[in-house]
Amino acid sequence: MKVPVNDLKRQYATLKPEMEKAVLAVMEDQMFILGQRVLDLEKAVAARVGVKHAIGCASGSDALLIALRAYDIGPGDEVITSPFTFFATGGAISRLGAKPVYVDIDPRTYNIDPEAARAAVTPRTKAIMPVHLYGRVAPMDALLSIASDAGGIPVIEDAAQALGAADERGRPACSIGHIGGISFFPTKNLGAFGDAGMMTTNDDAVAAHLRRLRVHGSSAMYMYAEVGMNSRLDALQAAVLQVKWPHLDRWNDLRRAHATKLNALLAAGAPEVTPPEIVPGHIIHCYTIRVPDGRRDALKKHLEERGVSSAIYYPLPLHRQEAWKDLGQGEGSLPHAERAAREVLSLPMFAEMRDDEIAYVAAQVASFYGR
Ligand SMILES: *Cc1c(COP(=O)(O)O)cnc(C)c1O
Repeated sequence: MKVPVNDLKRQYATLKPEMEKAVLAVMEDQMFILGQRVLDLEKAVAARVGVKHAIGCASGSDALLIALRAYDIGPGDEVITSPFTFFATGGAISRLGAKPVYVDIDPRTYNIDPEAARAAVTPRTKAIMPVHLYGRVAPMDALLSIASDAGGIPVIEDAAQALGAADERGRPACSIGHIGGISFFPTKNLGAFGDAGMMTTNDDAVAAHLRRLRVHGSSAMYMYAEVGMNSRLDALQAAVLQVKWPHLDRWNDLRRAHATKLNALLAAGAPEVTPPEIVPGHIIHCYTIRVPDGRRDALKKHLEERGVSSAIYYPLPLHRQEAWKDLGQGEGSLPHAERAAREVLSLPMFAEMRDDEIAYVAAQVASFYGR
């Protein structure tokens, strides 16, 4: 048997006729950028997430960048964030000339540790950007209280992996902080047929600024209040996302059901590994286990030889990337993030996964440990 980490073709097969109709309709319209389809999607996302405004843009990376710009973050400013995330989180901060301040993670949740965040606040701290890694919401209450103590700075949620997730109090990701950034990258829980993203906020003035920044800073037709960017959501991507939209919560529920089964099977067959904690609201963007004793790469190879694909998100924390060597955060400076980077392994996880595949994946992990 072969089990991929993700299988977009299987999802497409369930939506094909509808998808073809939606894409053809955009071709008939010949209206490609922003427009009614994007507005409709923005409305749907705002309603689902429970915020006043959702604003489409070209990618999740841009969503984070534009969010930081909306709060005038730039040279001389510091933004506290997690080192255990995709590059774009820190990249958005550095691209504006600000300094990413990487603080350690909670080894149990893989999310930013609020105590570490509090200790990193300086007079230059201008925002906190937690990441809801693997679809589990970061400890927002603690972070919001730190931000409030730091003079009322914004908390920007990197919710690229968390559309449809909620925290343990049931608050949807993207509705808790000041701005939420969503990615519709094809392999995310709601994936477009290319790059696409969205920003959310409850603040009317911030929303107006975000809308302006995505169209070069234009305040009225060919009038520019500031220099923004070109970062719009395409009608074609909006049409694709609208077809998938009614299925998002069901897909997230299926992921949770698969993860619950995998956890039980691994607890019995491979107690050596630490499966993900499945807390309420966790949408299991990735099903990530921790493999102890330096055996992660050996397990990955063992699985590969038996047809089970796996992935490492992420093998090198951001503070150890060459791109940020000037920060001077050496080996051992953020030990929990560094250890996670050595131990994590993401097993296959997608809504359309079958029970026999789930059983096979678990059996192959167990066989690595001689069971
Ligand atoms: C995917 C991702 C992004 C970037 O989103 P893109 O749409 O690929 O630009 C940012 N942060 C995290 C945590 C991500 O997983």
